[in-house]
Amino acid sequence: MLNSKGKPFKGPLIIISGPSGSGKSTLVRELLKDKSIPLEVAVSATTRKIRQFEVDGVDYFFWDKDKFKKEVASGSFLEWAEVYGNFYGTLVSEVESRRLRGAGVVLEIDVQGAGQIRKTGEISKSIFVVPPDMKACEARLRARGTETEETLVKRLASAKKELEQSVEYDFTVVNDDLEIAVEKIKGFIRPLFLER
Ligand code: 5GP
Repeated sequence: MLNSKGKPFKGPLIIISGPSGSGKSTLVRELLKDKSIPLEVAVSATTRKIRQFEVDGVDYFFWDKDKFKKEVASGSFLEWAEVYGNFYGTLVSEVESRRLRGAGVVLEIDVQGAGQIRKTGEISKSIFVVPPDMKACEARLRARGTETEETLVKRLASAKKELEQSVEYDFTVVNDDLEIAVEKIKGFIRPLFLER
């Protein structure tokens, strides 16, 4: 896509990270509803078990470990990492075509993946979502009903380490009030689309 000056414009790559239960998926869902921002989401691949109400190819591409490893070997991933005992990765095919069309692409990925992409220099902006406190995080995870006691403990234990990584991000938002948090993120990313 060309910008108004006839120069090629590649849509921005926006990373959103935050501990499990910080509410980042809900924030991303809300962001995508605003059609004044040409933003699309890249569907990741994972070896995690599919949850009730999740759809293969929509929420994730649910692959077994062999398939995931084969795709790693053939260079299909922009980044990948082991998170809470499962593999997750961003597919090049989900990102590049959208960006070349001029759309912004949002990646909801963990701190390791964000670090890998940062090293490539491809990142446009990164956002870290912080829960108001750990009790809120736990309450969200429990209310979601997707975790066993074991995986819940694993996710909460990682949260502290993940929060320490927030300094690496361009923007931090506390997800206390959903509407306010969404507006803050919109205000932060809108200028990226004005560079067209
Ligand atoms: P969940 O199992 O709750 O869907 O996701 C667990 C964690 O994996 C979240 O922190 C999420 O951001 C992260 N994640 C999801 N997709 C990717 C990905 O493609 N790459 C990396 N590195 N992390 C991901």
